[in-house]
Amino acid sequence: MTERLYYQDAFLASFDAVVVACDKARRGYTIELDRTAFFPEGGGQGGDRGTLDGVPVLDTKEEEGRILHYTEAALPVGKTVHGAVDFALRFRRMQCHSGEHLFSGLAHDLYGAENVGFHLGEHEMTVDTSRPLSPTELADIEARANAAVAKDLPIRVFFPTEEEAAALPYRSKIEITKDLRLVEIPGYDLCACCAPHVRTTGQIGLVKVLDTEAHKGGMRIHLLCGGAAVDDYGARYRTDAALSALLSAPQDKLCDAVRRLLTENEALRAAATDADRHLAEVLFAGALRQGQNLLFFDEKLGKAGIKRLSDLALPACRICGIFVGRDGGYQYTVLSEKVDLAAIADDMNALLCGRGGKNRTMLCGKCTATRAQIEQYFSDL
Ligand SMILES: [Zn+2]
Repeated sequence: MTERLYYQDAFLASFDAVVVACDKARRGYTIELDRTAFFPEGGGQGGDRGTLDGVPVLDTKEEEGRILHYTEAALPVGKTVHGAVDFALRFRRMQCHSGEHLFSGLAHDLYGAENVGFHLGEHEMTVDTSRPLSPTELADIEARANAAVAKDLPIRVFFPTEEEAAALPYRSKIEITKDLRLVEIPGYDLCACCAPHVRTTGQIGLVKVLDTEAHKGGMRIHLLCGGAAVDDYGARYRTDAALSALLSAPQDKLCDAVRRLLTENEALRAAATDADRHLAEVLFAGALRQGQNLLFFDEKLGKAGIKRLSDLALPACRICGIFVGRDGGYQYTVLSEKVDLAAIADDMNALLCGRGGKNRTMLCGKCTATRAQIEQYFSDL
């Protein structure tokens, strides 16, 4: 049984240990030590990374009571190796995890919301609660959590006896009968947890609620603490600064600037649609008649224009062909109320080097023919 050094000292980042097993894994190897400061995945917190004698440890997991270090290379059994935990990563995770305890303890005590799920990922942390919390409730919890951080309270980890545990009102997602380990933030939370934690609430740093979403009758809350929250603030600040420069607006007026832009955009779209319809009317006035068929060519006619033009032209001809683009690259819309277009589609596409969708009254697609070739085709049709 590996001695769990991280239980004695969550801040121990380097240690020496003896390799007791080394096995080939699907990728790399698994190394078992007689003692380790590497925390294996558990309690919602990921497994530690780092090195053993310079060999990268990519992950640490507990499997059937064995703590396995997943390494890139093998290490000889019986050798004393030097372990170095990636402590920057571990500390960030501890900040988030201890912050989550603080948050969940407050949510439970103040608003009766139980923590029913916890995930601590590479760039995000989520807490699932048994009931939804209102924006006011969330703001209250966040403010009280940050006040607890400012108090710099000691965080205590202990293993109570069964009798002691029976008298303690601790939070736990599962029934634990032996080796109960409790993490206490005095006055705020008492929770069963197997993971390492920071020493004081001050080490948690900033506690920030981000987004929320409905989840299984309760709520999923995206939360960040400490270094992760500071990095997130930095990334958001850089985005705001870039938007501010793009929109020539102060950062606290970005929403107003975007709203203005959207209103302008809507007005421009309406003007463009009007212009498109007007262009369709001009094109109809100068219609090019090929026998009983009407053909229209334009470089830029849009959807609204095509619709207007087809409404005008269709009653006045046998087949109406609208070609948008230029020689070698036309987008075509061919319409008819008098001819079964599905029957001519294959021939038309073969002669005009085109392809597209078809039904009895409309053909839409692209062709690479020239205007002269198109006019010739429709005059013979
Ligand atoms: Zn925990």
